Amino acid sequence: MKTKNMTGNEIRQSFIDYFISKGHKFVRSSSLVPGGDATLLFTNAGMVQFKDVFLGTDERDYTRATNSQKCMRVAGKHNDLEDVGQDDTHHTFFEMMGNWSFGDYYKKEAIGYAWELLTEVWKLPKERLYVTVFEDEQGQIPTDEEAVEFWSQQEGFSLDRLFYLGRKENFWEMGDTGPCGPCSEIHYDFHPELGPVTDKSTLDTDRFTEIWNLVFIQYNRKSPEKLDPLPSRHVDTGLGLERVVAILQGKDSNYRTDLMLPLVEAVQELTGDSDEERDANFTPYRVIADHARAAAFLIADGVVPGNLGRNYVCRMIVRRAYRFGGHVGLQEPFLALIAGVVVDLYQDAYPELKQNRKIILNTITREEEQFQQTLENATLHLEDLLDKLEPGDVLQGSDTGNLYTTYGLPLEITRDIARERGFQVDQEGFQRAMEAHRLNSGGGQAMGDLGGEEVELFHELLQKLQAEGQLDSAGVIYDPYQELTVEGPVLALVKDGKLVESAQEKDPVQVVLPKTVFYMEAGGQVSDTGTISGEDWLIEVDDIYQPAAGMIVHKGKVSKGQPAVGDLAQAAVDARRRKDIMRNHTATHLLHAALDKVIGEHARQAGSLVAPDHLRFDFTHNQALSDQELLAVEEEVNRRILEDHPLRIVSKPLQEAIDEGARALFGEKYGDVVRTIKMGDFSYELCGGTHCERSSDVALFLITSEGSTAAGIRRIEAVTGRAAYQLVRSRFQEMKEAAAALSSGPDQLASQVNALVDQYKTAEKTRDKLLRKLAVIELDAALQDLDQVGDVKLLTRIVEEADLDTLRLVADRFRQLVPERGIIVLGTVIADSPRLVAAVTEDLIQEGYKAGELVQYAAKPIGGGGGGRPAMAEAGGKHPEKLQEALASVPAWIKDKTKS
Ligand code: ATP
Ligand code: MG
Repeated sequence: MKTKNMTGNEIRQSFIDYFISKGHKFVRSSSLVPGGDATLLFTNAGMVQFKDVFLGTDERDYTRATNSQKCMRVAGKHNDLEDVGQDDTHHTFFEMMGNWSFGDYYKKEAIGYAWELLTEVWKLPKERLYVTVFEDEQGQIPTDEEAVEFWSQQEGFSLDRLFYLGRKENFWEMGDTGPCGPCSEIHYDFHPELGPVTDKSTLDTDRFTEIWNLVFIQYNRKSPEKLDPLPSRHVDTGLGLERVVAILQGKDSNYRTDLMLPLVEAVQELTGDSDEERDANFTPYRVIADHARAAAFLIADGVVPGNLGRNYVCRMIVRRAYRFGGHVGLQEPFLALIAGVVVDLYQDAYPELKQNRKIILNTITREEEQFQQTLENATLHLEDLLDKLEPGDVLQGSDTGNLYTTYGLPLEITRDIARERGFQVDQEGFQRAMEAHRLNSGGGQAMGDLGGEEVELFHELLQKLQAEGQLDSAGVIYDPYQELTVEGPVLALVKDGKLVESAQEKDPVQVVLPKTVFYMEAGGQVSDTGTISGEDWLIEVDDIYQPAAGMIVHKGKVSKGQPAVGDLAQAAVDARRRKDIMRNHTATHLLHAALDKVIGEHARQAGSLVAPDHLRFDFTHNQALSDQELLAVEEEVNRRILEDHPLRIVSKPLQEAIDEGARALFGEKYGDVVRTIKMGDFSYELCGGTHCERSSDVALFLITSEGSTAAGIRRIEAVTGRAAYQLVRSRFQEMKEAAAALSSGPDQLASQVNALVDQYKTAEKTRDKLLRKLAVIELDAALQDLDQVGDVKLLTRIVEEADLDTLRLVADRFRQLVPERGIIVLGTVIADSPRLVAAVTEDLIQEGYKAGELVQYAAKPIGGGGGGRPAMAEAGGKHPEKLQEALASVPAWIKDKTKS
């Protein structure tokens, strides 16, 4: 194999082919969103999708696997963001190649395969490869002499290139408890001319890059002190694709390989920098290339920019790239151009990029446009804050939090800017501020974390029940698809976080049975409710969930008697509620298909809720649906309902389903075998939900609302079955009552209402006319009796029920009828606010009595202001009850004028 000429894509494939030739099964990369794991924000290693296999709660029909896994290390325990842009080996998004043995081969083969692939297949010079092996600095866990032995057997390997390292580098643990073991890492020497390595800390310098980590899982940690050997031992390895490609292509940077250079060059094309200029200012190029790739892959997996959790990360990545664009003179949104190159480069290995091309590019551009509007203000505000700091001060969490919630500036960017000026930021304070903001604004949980203690309790319970033979290796059997009732013994009861033997009336409890038929919230479908009952007791179940892999738990309250562990129980799902849910779920698939047809295939599902009383469906689309479109969608769904299609539910290999065009949804965990649901030739989805037998079971589908939830995401809400009937029924009732009030029938309701509205408008006009006439008559009467202030004739009056036109009309008429030395000020209240209109005759204007000034003065008591021409002016205010006072102040103003 000529490695020098291999492309990155070929290198990825050659890794997979090598392990397939050694009996491994190729497993597709799982989503960047870890399915069914609330403790992890992103998939950050190849082993994530196999975690349950190591825990012994999941089994596969193979014992050797290989893959290339999409990983993100930008949050939580693994966060490499600060290295990205600074070095040539760390990315936020990267591909981790791996091979696994589940209780099959062990250290000997794992080391042998790695050595053979690197040195024989890829022909890397043996003397450039260094390895590390575990030796416990605390002297408690045995040194991994086995690994040393197998390394020494590799042809051309010499033990002076082997070093021992301690727990931090070379002992791998999944968590505080659980499977763990020593690892052995392979490092590559970029500068052999510097001579032999004598000090192991050299491995940590730029001269070396770590490329491959081989983990040997052989213990189960029970407590900080206690390690038990595992019955079956496993291998878990991770090789950074970008790093090995750089080495094989003879490059000194991941960014100069054919996996990333095209991205860098695409940026360069926009900036017009020469190669020298680019290399002298390489950081922005690295950041933009890295972030464009990460954003494209995130959005392809359904993670769009937003304010919480994963969505926040996507937002931060796009915004950070945009800001670094500013460092190389890019002022307009540009990242979609780079993301387009990402799609071109990676679409064969990751078809989800191709399928979502348009949405990826549009989403990125929209996010940049939004940020473009606030970035400048955000930076100015931040600069102000930084100006106030003394050297050594830290920017407070309340400030960084506010910069995000008010100006949309993510913490990571605030930190970049602060550091450029030599300041640190309080990152924990930011988290606290965000948490407070989230609570104030009623949002969901910011970072999604399960209580550790609960996980532990149920994990131990699972192991105990398995050891006693009460549960098998798969744990609680989950089958919500066949029956709605099931019988079995109560295996465990938990009250207030502790295992109990029995419970009392009113106790909140968690109940474990060997098998459950309750559906557990997934794919938008809500959990079932129902009952668990024994001979003389009853528990109302209001939720079901999975606190630990293999452990499915009913949550509820004892409403009668005293349930005890060992009692025979019958669990029954609330069947009526469940059937409502099934109708809504089947309708959701029909809706998805109808949207495809009416507005186009880009309408991809971005979230859904399938509840008993309604369904909610979010999808990607840039504008509101027109009335015609909504009607067409509703009609299409109802047409499919009436066509009475059977739902064909078949389980098959994931790859086969995808090749056949089944739609996979984001946030779902897909195993190798998936459940597919098909109706006719228009709807084909991967779905774990429960469904009707035939489309006609949905009965009726009515859209109740259409709106937007976030930029580029629309939401449709709808009802089916019983809820749809009730909606129609109550609408009918209202129409009937309205028709009765109009003494007509429902059929004439619209024409009757229109006629009524016309009549009302005419009546309103007539009334206004009459009010005006009345005002004029009142004026004429009032003229007989004008106030006299000095030699000025004054009329002040509150006119009830008048509009401004009427006041103006009356004021004009006053000026005609009192042509000399006259002033009129009128007040009224329109929609709760006080209004004034004043007019002054020409001779007085000459003497300096100006209507504009007058209303300004008179409006003071009503708490307002106004102005206008000298002859006529208007004012408004806030205190209608002070109108009389305002009018009463006019004589004082006139006297004042007369004096001056
Ligand atoms: P490093 O110390 O270089 O950050 P690591 O010890 O964190 O690496 P592992 O968790 O052992 O890495 O992951 C296995 C392999 O994945 C590494 O040997 C490396 O090749 C690759 N890798 C890890 N993190 C990154 C990253 N941020 N970007 C690119 N490749 C990575
Ligand atoms: Mg690391």
